Amino acid sequence: MPNWANSDRRNRLPSDWDARRKKRFRIDDFRCTWENVYDERCTGPAEECDHHIPNDDHSIENLRSMCSFHHGQKSGKEGADARAANWRRNNSKFRRAEKHPGEL
Ligand SMILES: [Zn+2]
Repeated sequence: MPNWANSDRRNRLPSDWDARRKKRFRIDDFRCTWENVYDERCTGPAEECDHHIPNDDHSIENLRSMCSFHHGQKSGKEGADARAANWRRNNSKFRRAEKHPGEL
């Protein structure tokens, strides 16, 4: 089950999402657009449409074709980054100002 399965993302997609998705797949030659550090493109098929900048910008320019594997990897990393940012934000609220009594 993908990470976004329980999110409300699907409800926030535009009514012509399927057409946009297909248009992006056509632009990307129906292939995944993920590239490794040597600029070599993935040979997997375009199976999912990724939001390049993760937000509600559903314009063709912000969409990228990806295979399920790379989309899952990217979405998983974005989720982990969001959780880490949240943790840092909460952690800074409760940071101790005084020194530990054992500290010299
Ligand atoms: Zn791929």
